[in-house]
Amino acid sequence: MKHITVLGATGSIGLSTLDVISRHPDKYTVFALTANRNVDEMLKQCRLFKPMYAVMSDEQAAELLEKSIFELSLDIKVLSGQSGLEYVAGHKGSDTVMSAIVGAAGLKPTLSAVYAGKRILLANKEALVMSGALFMAAAKAAGAEILPIDSEHNAIFQCMPADYRSGMPLKHIRRILLTASGGPFRTTPLDELKSVTPQQACKHPNWSMGRKISVDSASMMNKGLELIEACWLFDTTPDNVDVHVHPESIIHSMVEYDDGSVLAQMGSPDMRTPIAYGLSWPERIDSGVSSLDLFKIAQLNFEKPDEERFPCLRLAAEAYRRGGTACAILNAANEVAVDAFLSNTLRFDQIPTVIEQVMDLLPEIPATDLSQIFEADEAARIAAANLISQGL
Ligand code: NAD
Ligand code: MG
Repeated sequence: MKHITVLGATGSIGLSTLDVISRHPDKYTVFALTANRNVDEMLKQCRLFKPMYAVMSDEQAAELLEKSIFELSLDIKVLSGQSGLEYVAGHKGSDTVMSAIVGAAGLKPTLSAVYAGKRILLANKEALVMSGALFMAAAKAAGAEILPIDSEHNAIFQCMPADYRSGMPLKHIRRILLTASGGPFRTTPLDELKSVTPQQACKHPNWSMGRKISVDSASMMNKGLELIEACWLFDTTPDNVDVHVHPESIIHSMVEYDDGSVLAQMGSPDMRTPIAYGLSWPERIDSGVSSLDLFKIAQLNFEKPDEERFPCLRLAAEAYRRGGTACAILNAANEVAVDAFLSNTLRFDQIPTVIEQVMDLLPEIPATDLSQIFEADEAARIAAANLISQGL
């Protein structure tokens, strides 16, 4: 029996994780669930999965939850805040932690699980983007197992030799082919990108996801973050990772070997496949995902990413090359810009402008400990908010 903690249980990845877990009561039990402030969904999950702990980051939400848990006579301890998240993430009562909080807020809890040497199912790509070198070094030191859940990185991992583990140098591999859907604005006339709405940006053609990652997919910053994520997970550089726009999202990424063989992992665009793989690795379990109907799909297309349309891709590669705190700066500026776009205080096409200006304003420094990462994150948030409030 594996004991699972789900960080970000009420989100899109959290719900898919619990769906897979619920199919295998003989294999998995839920140790702890965490969320920000969605008390209704958390309560529903508590009744179904009866975890030992439920954590709400928001104090008021935690109070409400505790009251309901008491009224229902459930034997679940309710915790709150950052300390509650870190406590359950590192608690020895679980062996596997799904890291599915969105954004930089996921870094500290995920690291807490890393330090405790657990199996980490890593969906929260922002954590790795911010602190890649320190994160991977901490995982190695603690013996934590990092299994990529992001569909592309999970696909790449599946195409690696059986003895490959995250962070190891690549052997006999020429390059990684990272696929991207191109998002909802792949063919939108460029001048219309000025006036697209959050609702349009969040309507992804193939995947159903949280709002932040949906906007990232629309700007292709998601692929930029994934490029950085791939470099850390597979110990490589952007020169060995080629982004291929593949609008059908059937091939989830590929690995090309020295002999010219290209291995691809395919499947319906449903996150339960990589989640099930992470939960059961090195075995396989049923994920609830239906069979792929290639006759119906009929065609797979590929194109080069359009750099004029998607400047975020270039900015992410640039941040990786700059190194140190540059990726934390890129990530924080992007989070602030996406928030502003979602609350209608920034145009969609201004997202990359904010990020580029913040990267120019704040020179990166080498990141030798986490406090430098958090300081860079904080400074970039302030700089981005100032730029946005001043109208850029
Ligand atoms: P989501 O917005 O649907 O869910 C986010 C979860 O995090 C929720 O449970 C929310 O309560 C919690 N949360 C939000 N802010 C928090 C805070 N400040 N403190 C503590 N908890 C907080 O997001 P999602 O789409 O499930 O994505 C989660 C992560 O997985 C992201 O990093 C995303 O990039 C990554 N990811 C998602 C998908 C997908 O298909 N949704 C695919 C690949 C990777
Ligand atoms: Mg992805």
